[in-house]
Amino acid sequence: MKKINVAKNSGFCFGVRMAVDKALEEAEKSDNVIMLGDIVHNEHVVRKIDSSGVRVVDELPAENPGTLMLRAHGTVPEVYEEANEKGYRIVDATCPLVLEIHDNARGLDKDGYKVVIIGDHGHDEVKGIAGQVKNPIIISSPEEVEEKIPSRVRKIGVVVQSTQNIENAQAIVQKLMTLGREMKYYDTICKPTKLYQAEIRTMPLENDVMIIVGSFTSANTKRLTEISHSLNPKSYQVENGSDIEKGWFDGADTVGVTAGASTPDWIIDEVVKAIEKLNGE
Ligand code: SF4
Repeated sequence: MKKINVAKNSGFCFGVRMAVDKALEEAEKSDNVIMLGDIVHNEHVVRKIDSSGVRVVDELPAENPGTLMLRAHGTVPEVYEEANEKGYRIVDATCPLVLEIHDNARGLDKDGYKVVIIGDHGHDEVKGIAGQVKNPIIISSPEEVEEKIPSRVRKIGVVVQSTQNIENAQAIVQKLMTLGREMKYYDTICKPTKLYQAEIRTMPLENDVMIIVGSFTSANTKRLTEISHSLNPKSYQVENGSDIEKGWFDGADTVGVTAGASTPDWIIDEVVKAIEKLNGE
């Protein structure tokens, strides 16, 4: 009999939960609600939002402006300007913790620091932070530090993408410190991310097999899988219950289950049930 241990901190963070609830609420009120891009990187949630009637668009249509929902990971100021100009009603579901990162970045810029964002290139949250200031520097790994920070920059102000890998951010900060410049650092990795990452550093050592639930397009789920795999090679990422393979659990007594911040509870339950079903076979 396999014992299944579900992580205490897994699945939707409060920011994503709030954004999904708001989108469903707005869809009840109006049949003209749009969103610039998918609400989270999870196809099950995307399908649910889609069937509620919220439309996903790439650009804001000029005709028939209705409600524009802004997603949890925030956006650039130009989107607010354009939406206001075109007459949209904005429902802002940007996570308060992301808004705090925007404030920190703007404050650093105002105080004359060159803003450095530790984050993934091309990620929507990072683009939203970058849009708050002029010409920030984005760094995703310690190797990029020397190449990206020009020698003329004397004051560096650092913020971090809310879902960054803590160890990667620490390694980048340490490298930045060796440059010998004045530096101000805001640790803006959010509390839910810290709790998820703390658990994923112990669970793989305490369980024979680890299952990480979430979409392969979700950066934070991918990070959990990477950390788990580095500690326990019997770590497997699945998108739903049907991805579970019997052979993974041969000889295993304990199975740890965790999930990224964009994974809904109902999918975590489905995966747990699929593992339980193997217990009965
Ligand atoms: S991961 Fe953190 S910052 Fe991002 S939406 Fe969730 S709580 Fe907010």
